[in-house]
Amino acid sequence: MAKRIGILGGTFDPVHIGHLRGALEVAEQFGLDELRLIPSARPPHRNTPQVSAADRLAMVEQAVAGLPPLTVDDRELRRDKPSYSIDTLESLRAELAPEDQLFLLLGWDAFCGLPTWHRWEELLDHCHILVLQRPDADSEPPESLRDLVAARSINDPQALTGPSGHIAFVWQTPLEVSATQIRQRLASGRSVRFLVPDAVLAYINAHGLYRAPTN
Ligand code: ATP
Repeated sequence: MAKRIGILGGTFDPVHIGHLRGALEVAEQFGLDELRLIPSARPPHRNTPQVSAADRLAMVEQAVAGLPPLTVDDRELRRDKPSYSIDTLESLRAELAPEDQLFLLLGWDAFCGLPTWHRWEELLDHCHILVLQRPDADSEPPESLRDLVAARSINDPQALTGPSGHIAFVWQTPLEVSATQIRQRLASGRSVRFLVPDAVLAYINAHGLYRAPTN
């Protein structure tokens, strides 16, 4: 039987309930065998993460421990090159059977930035794309994505068939949480309780992460 594997890439600086609820809801909705969170090492599109890759990975590991089908995949941290999604997809594909279904989860903001990604037009050769609606999302994709959305999107995500090639927009419980907001709260000494899992908060506290430097 074809396997159904989801992947959610991100800097996870730190991982938070927005990532985890989205991942869990998609995994349930699509009956995924596994949903891998894939921390990126050197994100090509953004500033250097504030904490080390090892800490970001450890926090994701804490967050998904004992929470199947969520798992962690550290392949981008083991690679000595920028973390391009196309490389990750190709390496995952090489490990799967041709009929296995791969689902790339993207938040709405990440999806809108797709045309700036390395070899972005090849992504759908390897996977389906599931776009998670975020509360702050515009309803229309940018001009550069309109043709692709018109050609590849399907209205009923449950009708997604085949190993790759389609785009579906997926509703998730809206959680207006971002890692930026969490870093800011921590830097100013405010609580992030309930915005990250308790185990992640314990890790942040134990390692003194994201605190403003003291003089
Ligand atoms: P930052 O605030 O540092 O930019 P972030 O909270 O957006 O970080 P990322 O690690 O960049 O987190 O996100 C990884 C993926 O998760 C992206 O596809 C992003 O759109 C999605 N995502 C992040 N937060 C949410 C949320 N609250 N709801 C749905 N999707 C989210």
